[in-house]
Amino acid sequence: MSFTLAIVGRPNVGKSTLFNRLVGKRLALVDDQPGVTRDLREGAARLGDLRFTVIDTAGLENETDDSLPARMRRLTERAVDMADVCLFIVDARTGLLPDDRVFAEILRKRAGRVILAANKAEGNAADAGVFEAYELGLGEPVRLSAEHGEGMNELYSMLLPIS
Ligand code: GDP
Ligand code: MG
Repeated sequence: MSFTLAIVGRPNVGKSTLFNRLVGKRLALVDDQPGVTRDLREGAARLGDLRFTVIDTAGLENETDDSLPARMRRLTERAVDMADVCLFIVDARTGLLPDDRVFAEILRKRAGRVILAANKAEGNAADAGVFEAYELGLGEPVRLSAEHGEGMNELYSMLLPIS
């Protein structure tokens, strides 16, 4: 059986980088400037022998106030409703920001299965951020580096029971 995975999280945590790695084509824009990718993108993902649909979420990411823009929240909710499982990504380098806790609440209320991932976790500069992710109360974070392809085996083993 195939399944749909939604990649969610605040801007700039590396959602599109992971999406591109899973889909293998540059379907989603990746940019250093938050605010470039928009809306929802769907792709056919491969991870080892797993085949599934992956959704990348984006939204109005360049608002000046630091609270989660309503559009981003609505898009995330749409993606969550389409998905069998959500991959919630936080940035292990910046550590948790208030918006991460907002997303955690949305997922707690709305999503069934949630896999937590701490991205940008290459090297030990990210250790503190990985441990901090436990505070979200969503279980043990998968330690990922979307950019360097690290942690993909662990992600595979989390997705295997869902497939
Ligand atoms: P999104 O807004 O969540 O889709 O984030 P992007 O995928 O656009 O990535 C935002 C920035 O983080 C880009 O500059 C990426 O190159 C960078 N990035 C993504 N994954 C990693 C990672 O594993 N390690 C590091 N150091 N940077 C990353
Ligand atoms: Mg993006």
